[in-house]
Amino acid sequence: MILRSDLLIKFFEIFAPIKIRAITLFPFIVISSQTKMDDVLLNHERIHLRQQLEMLIIPFYILYLIEGIFKGYRNISFEKEAFANEADQGYLRKRKLFAFVKYYRKKY
Ligand SMILES: [Zn+2]
Repeated sequence: MILRSDLLIKFFEIFAPIKIRAITLFPFIVISSQTKMDDVLLNHERIHLRQQLEMLIIPFYILYLIEGIFKGYRNISFEKEAFANEADQGYLRKRKLFAFVKYYRKKY
């Protein structure tokens, strides 16, 4: 379910070193009013929804935060998986459970 909220996006930008186009807060995908949703962005956020579900949500955010602090946003395994596969519209149909684990050490 997609929500449009500049307030939520601005709140999370306080803590993020990047400009946020969208953020996935299970079960919602929150986007700013300036964000134009496209298939690639939607797929990226859907990959995060799947990751959050399989991690039972709260542990996802804990791990995401820890990895983000120590490795930086682009090196978070959840982000590496999402960026590597966002253009593949069939990815979620073939994705294996806990697929982000193989991105934990993989360098790009
Ligand atoms: Zn992402």
